[in-house]
Amino acid sequence: MKIAVLPGDGIGTEIVAEAVKVLKALGLGLEMEHAPVGGAAYEASGHPLPDATLRLAREADAVLFGAVGDWKYDTLERALRPEQAILGLRKHLGLFANFRPAICYEQLVGASSLKPELIAGLDILIIRELTGDIYFGQPRGRRVATDGHFPGAEEAFDTMRYSRPEIERIAHVAFQAARKRNKKVTSVDKANVLETFQLWKDVVTEVARDYPDVTLEHMYVDNAAMQLVKAPKKFDVIVTGNMFGDILSDEASMLTGSIGMLPSASLNAKNQGLYEPSHGSAPDIAGQGIANPLATILSAAMMLRFSLNQPEAADRIEAAVKAVLAQGLRTPDIWSEGTTKVGTVQMGDAVLKALG
Ligand code: NAD
Repeated sequence: MKIAVLPGDGIGTEIVAEAVKVLKALGLGLEMEHAPVGGAAYEASGHPLPDATLRLAREADAVLFGAVGDWKYDTLERALRPEQAILGLRKHLGLFANFRPAICYEQLVGASSLKPELIAGLDILIIRELTGDIYFGQPRGRRVATDGHFPGAEEAFDTMRYSRPEIERIAHVAFQAARKRNKKVTSVDKANVLETFQLWKDVVTEVARDYPDVTLEHMYVDNAAMQLVKAPKKFDVIVTGNMFGDILSDEASMLTGSIGMLPSASLNAKNQGLYEPSHGSAPDIAGQGIANPLATILSAAMMLRFSLNQPEAADRIEAAVKAVLAQGLRTPDIWSEGTTKVGTVQMGDAVLKALG
């Protein structure tokens, strides 16, 4: 079992180091090879996704990814910005299904900005289509200004598009995931305004016929955004397109208190996957040793379950995370009165110890 370890930028290196420590302690004989990605790779070789990094990711059974990006790269041309590395990996590995669970841990109910009764016991899964939609549509561009320059442009455009097979495959993923949970899928669209999402709604409805045991409901994205803060526990699996999923999954992650707690998985048709925390590189706290490593450690657990077929090891990690929370250990992002503040490395060490 070979894992490509791509720590990236900012807190990426700090949090991935803790996840690697935990993975090594499981004694599964995992082969882990590191490579630069994002800003770190741009600094080293002039490109955010060097060929050698992409090759390693392709050859591995799974990719453990930290985060990429820093404000200092904002002036670079788009193709060289760190974030392009993640888009490139998704595209080249065919990672079309993004799983973002939003789980509220009992001990962190107080960390949410919502009332405890709304989120206690919350366990929802957002499945976001990752390789289509407006982020990958063609044509796209800015019409140059009369003086021939982009900065003065009066108009810009991006094209939203989905094909039937793209919608079918993500719908199947969602229904299959729902079968293993509470058997309900909410398909989020904007079919009242957008043709792309009328097709989405029609195709999801057709696919639902293969899953008579799963309940399907359709919801417009604006309503879904409201319902997520009004009554989030009504959802089980949400399936949606790339852009709506981007926004709703961040909204859902904050229901649970801290983005530092939430893992994610992006899978292709062969169950090869890229596993990363839901958050970014947090340049504001990088290098301070205070980032929460639990989202990355929990992403490693998802990797063991989905791509490496090691569900018991995944269970061990998840139980260890619950145990350290029960011990009252908290990084600053989830700290509250009466709990013990710890740094990134101490949190990783505590998980390691709790593995038993
Ligand atoms: P961010 O997720 O990096 O940070 C948002 C806020 O959450 C910050 O206040 C940060 O300190 C905090 N935070 C994030 N992760 C944390 C953790 N593990 N522990 C404690 N606090 C944490 O989002 P941003 O500030 O909008 O973006 C920063 C950079 O990250 C940008 O360059 C952006 O493009 C990039 N980014 C990368 C990815 C990715 O690599 N997949 C995803 C999102 C953003």
